[in-house]
Amino acid sequence: MGGPGSGQWYRWKGTRTTLEGVNRLDVRWLHRHGYLDGCPHWVTWSCGERRVGGVMLALQAEGMVLTYRYRVHGRDWESVRQVITLDWTPCHYGGERPWFRCAGCRRRVAVLCSAGKWFLCRHCYELPYGSQQETEEARLLRKVRTLRARLGASMNLLEPIWTKPTGMHWRTFDRLLQEVFSHRRLRVSQPDVEVTTSSPRTVLAELHARGYRRAWLVGGGQLAGAFRAQGLITEYIVTVIPIILGTGIPLFGAVGPTEPLQLVASQVYPNGLVQLHYRRAPEA
Ligand SMILES: [Zn+2]
Repeated sequence: MGGPGSGQWYRWKGTRTTLEGVNRLDVRWLHRHGYLDGCPHWVTWSCGERRVGGVMLALQAEGMVLTYRYRVHGRDWESVRQVITLDWTPCHYGGERPWFRCAGCRRRVAVLCSAGKWFLCRHCYELPYGSQQETEEARLLRKVRTLRARLGASMNLLEPIWTKPTGMHWRTFDRLLQEVFSHRRLRVSQPDVEVTTSSPRTVLAELHARGYRRAWLVGGGQLAGAFRAQGLITEYIVTVIPIILGTGIPLFGAVGPTEPLQLVASQVYPNGLVQLHYRRAPEA
């Protein structure tokens, strides 16, 4: 039979699982074709001539009841019974239209997918549309990991980036670091990582409100410059290394206000390093 999974409904794009690549139930299709009449119906999915799945479906008092078989790759088949809640909303031109209530997130959706044991919405299974090829999150995570690899940092996003790889120019290092830090739309699934689009001042205020008193900024001159531009740096410890490198790189990438400084201390090291400790001068 033709089913909600027949023809172009079922198709693989590359090796990634997309919304189009899994068996789906569309409540509008079921409603339009009389599947929600209270009688049991057999719904199948096919890929060309080959049947790739099927469920028994019946609308009952408790909801839409699905019975089907499921198995994890390499394990035995198990019988599954899933009850899906239906919501009915009025249509513009009279009558009512049905919605699935996703058992995973309680969203009201028209389509449920079978990408695991249960029929859940595409958000729960994190299924991208085939046309997207890759979710935005996955794309950005991949990009960050590529940059971290270039910086010689580990693939663990929780670990800071410590050192510049030998042979890489500081400017390149700084720029790559900026890229890692500036993926503003990145959403991360790891609970310990937060990505913010807020300004440095807001971030500090939030950290302060949460009881943090110190934050270690791991980044280059531009990142520090962003904090300086908002007047958030009160003390500077500048170390002068006795090497002339030719073209210089600005200490703080971004332009910022002119700041008079007061020398607090200075220390000379036997190897020629001079460390200068400044505090921002009080405003006149
Ligand atoms: Zn869901």
